[in-house]
Amino acid sequence: MSGLKLRNVKKSFGAVHVIKGVDLDIEDKQFVVFVGPSGCGKSTLLRMIAGLEQISSGDLFIGDKRMNDVDPAQRGIAMVFQSYALYPHMTVRENMGFALKFAGRPKDEIARRVDEAARILELGKLLDRRPGQLSGGQRQRVAIGRAIVRHPDVFLFDEPLSNLDAELRVHMRIEIARLHKELNTTIIYVTHDQVEAMTLADKIVVLRDGIIEQAGSPLELYDDPDNLFVAGFIGSPK
Ligand code: ADP
Ligand code: MG
Repeated sequence: MSGLKLRNVKKSFGAVHVIKGVDLDIEDKQFVVFVGPSGCGKSTLLRMIAGLEQISSGDLFIGDKRMNDVDPAQRGIAMVFQSYALYPHMTVRENMGFALKFAGRPKDEIARRVDEAARILELGKLLDRRPGQLSGGQRQRVAIGRAIVRHPDVFLFDEPLSNLDAELRVHMRIEIARLHKELNTTIIYVTHDQVEAMTLADKIVVLRDGIIEQAGSPLELYDDPDNLFVAGFIGSPK
């Protein structure tokens, strides 16, 4: 794995053009944050990268390999959603191990990976509980755990904290920054929250109506926004 490249990526649903030609370079281990108004195409872009949505035209590369037609399970990518439905009848351990069990991995390997994720996420004492016995923040950590056990090269997060209250969001934001350091992986993260974007990102990508308005480091975008739209999202007014 050495970075992700999107080249003139487009997506239409029927006659509706949702992504209108996106070019983007993401370096290995970078923390990239997508921001932009509701409906601008953030989730659609993530879903195309994950392989959950077909790319209409253009190319997606991971390293040198063109990924457009590669099966989602073979891409080395794991996605954490905003609405993280855990299986209510399974324990935390079973929830985290489920995808590996489904893929036919040996029991001892599953146990090892779940224990490793539980350590990283400080869920060790909760492994035998069911989702109903967890707080919102703990449930969100289990959802992240389900991604970690797969040892992906790239994590995709689609507004993972938007269902949490303000205090918990701050706590989880710090946790996610720590996670990025500890796992040493590439993260693409969608958020509405300017503070999350500014504090987490190596690179911020500002989207509007299916195109990239501007991409750069938080400081670049803050100090030197290309236009008022970007300034309104993250910068100081020009
Ligand atoms: P965001 O995540 O930035 O809020 P989305 O990527 O979810 O935006 O959606 C971008 C646009 O694409 C929206 O106008 C949405 O209605 C449309 N869209 C998303 N998925 C579909 C779909 N499966 N069929 C038709 N239109 C869709
Ligand atoms: Mg979305």
